[in-house]
Amino acid sequence: MSAIITSQIRDEIKRVNGGAFAGNRGNLLPVLQHLQARFGGISGEAMQEVADAVGLRPVEVEEIVSFYSFLRKDTAGRFIIRLCRTLSCEMQGKKQVANQLESELGIRFGETTPDKLFTLEYTNCMGMCDQGPAMLVNDRIFTHVTPEKVHRIVTECRRQFGEYQTGLVDFNPNIRKVGPILTGISEAEAGLRRALRMPRSEVIGEIRAAFLRGRGGAGFPVSTKWQIAAAAKGANKYVVCNADEGEPGTFKDRLLLLDFADKVIEGMTIAGYAIGATQGLIYLRGEYAFMREELEESISNRRKKSLLGQSIFGKEDMVFDVDIRMGSGAYVCGEETALIESMEGKRGEPRNRPPFPVNTGFMSCPTAVNNVETFVNAALVLDKGPEWYKQNGTAQSTGTKLFSISGDCISPGIFEFPLGISISEVLEEAHGEDAKAVQIGGASGQCVPRSGFERCISFEDAPPGGSIIVIGPDRDMLDVAENFLEFFAEESCGQCIPCRKGTQVLLEGVRLLRRGDCSLEYLARLRKLSASMKIASKCGLGQSAPNAFMGIVDHFQDELLGRRPKE
Ligand code: SF4
Repeated sequence: MSAIITSQIRDEIKRVNGGAFAGNRGNLLPVLQHLQARFGGISGEAMQEVADAVGLRPVEVEEIVSFYSFLRKDTAGRFIIRLCRTLSCEMQGKKQVANQLESELGIRFGETTPDKLFTLEYTNCMGMCDQGPAMLVNDRIFTHVTPEKVHRIVTECRRQFGEYQTGLVDFNPNIRKVGPILTGISEAEAGLRRALRMPRSEVIGEIRAAFLRGRGGAGFPVSTKWQIAAAAKGANKYVVCNADEGEPGTFKDRLLLLDFADKVIEGMTIAGYAIGATQGLIYLRGEYAFMREELEESISNRRKKSLLGQSIFGKEDMVFDVDIRMGSGAYVCGEETALIESMEGKRGEPRNRPPFPVNTGFMSCPTAVNNVETFVNAALVLDKGPEWYKQNGTAQSTGTKLFSISGDCISPGIFEFPLGISISEVLEEAHGEDAKAVQIGGASGQCVPRSGFERCISFEDAPPGGSIIVIGPDRDMLDVAENFLEFFAEESCGQCIPCRKGTQVLLEGVRLLRRGDCSLEYLARLRKLSASMKIASKCGLGQSAPNAFMGIVDHFQDELLGRRPKE
């Protein structure tokens, strides 16, 4: 390595946060992300320099680089093209686009062109399931990609050699149905203003009275989380917005972050007041890097209006600020302890629980981690009051919910429905009535066959998650199972054997079924394995990875058994 290159690396390291890294591992990911963008990869020399700057051993830096799919040791081409391979994009013609990309570039997936201009890769869900096939070119997202479009995009990249662009192309917000959240019925800052007039405990009381449950999937009562964090001892406390929306089929937070960022941050500020935190962090997934600038602008505008920073609304003891931390392509970081590990500059591997983040979270301090939509709902509750909020939904599932709907329906997009709505009503709205099944809550959710379409989407019945993928009458359910299991096998962090090996064995089982080589006895063993994975896996990824497989085996056994090889 020449002295010139080494000094370039050092200069670039200094550019991030003014080079203030010594002893602060939390800065590791930002500096690696910067070097990746600047040099197209993180060489051994770069890892050595970063290790020296942060105060780690080079092997510890290498562990991080190897964990995140958006970081790499080899040097990528000037344009990294990442084609989404998750189910909704697959359903909309991903295969034809993949073929065209390989033929246009003259390389296979996983390769770089000899002129170092293009690297071609697959990626998992990038939150554009309603307008696939979707692909990223560096940080720029292209939607509705066709083979013809591939030619135009590649030509444009060749012409604009070296230009680094970000943004969305041919994007449609696809808002199909609005309710209290999306109509903007909640006046700007009204929730925060009202919250700050109450004692902190009363704010949590309002959330409890509204029976607001987390919108990230598990549906944990928000007031319980905030109550424990408020009572926990710690000089510093944190509020974290989980904007790592990586569940296949889910893209509702995309809309909230793009068009309702102020409401998200208002909700975070209310949470900060309620638990006594002075710092909020938005963990934004790497695939949503194109949103970062606008989010930073929202934060900066709020600081100028004294809605963030010191003495918010003139209340002297109300101090709260927000920063953004970027993810780097790891689905498991949607799990709250993995997300915290990632923000601390480590591999995004889930922690053992307890202790829970509300007691021992970011930097070992009490931390309330909530989903983007949860914060918007919290602001709505504080503005309109719990009784008003409970007018929608059911006893155990209050309020409305955003749904990302994609797959085999005429009107994919984002819908706001009251919780408790039936699946058949949802399909009617999205014009997907002839579906033979729906996948609710993404790859880790439930597969519901047509016979279950009168079920209600609520925490009492079919858990809502954030998405519904409509599966049309002509789809092969093994394609669905294979796609999801490929996803889990790749995204497993590998910490525990039931998940690491189990996802691979189930995937192989699906391939045996496809070849007509899976006996009933082996199928029974796969079911047992699925049940063990649900019990023995350390985190939600391994526990939920068999869900779709088991649902498909339970409900579509006739379709699966006695298969002959697919042409
Ligand atoms: Fe990692 Fe899977 Fe274990 Fe979760 S269940 S800790 S993702 S190996």
